[in-house]
Amino acid sequence: MKISPHFHRHEFACNCGCGFDTVDTHTLEVLEVVREHFGVPVRVTSGCRCPAYNHQVGGAERSQHRLGRAADIQVQGVDPGLVFDWVAERFPATSLGRYANFTHIDTRSDGPARWEG
Ligand SMILES: [Zn+2]
Ligand SMILES: [Zn+2]
Repeated sequence: MKISPHFHRHEFACNCGCGFDTVDTHTLEVLEVVREHFGVPVRVTSGCRCPAYNHQVGGAERSQHRLGRAADIQVQGVDPGLVFDWVAERFPATSLGRYANFTHIDTRSDGPARWEG
């Protein structure tokens, strides 16, 4: 099911196959603006995580991925650091994690949090 101009619900599904597949509307809005700005496909490498899968991948106990509020993304051909910097400036309230191969984005209510992975 298409839930925004460029994203389908299944793209946010937990990678373990359990079927947990939601995404917060604010997080989705940010991803749409990222997609529009860079003009290239945005791949969600990790969206939702059920407790078991989150544990398996070593996610934080209170990870926003468990709430369907976070997405780890790769913007095709764009350095993850550039994505981090652009989102931080465009959406100052957004929480962001800087990693070598992806950018973590979430819209927690008690943010913004910023970290390097
Ligand atoms: Zn799962
Ligand atoms: Zn993440």
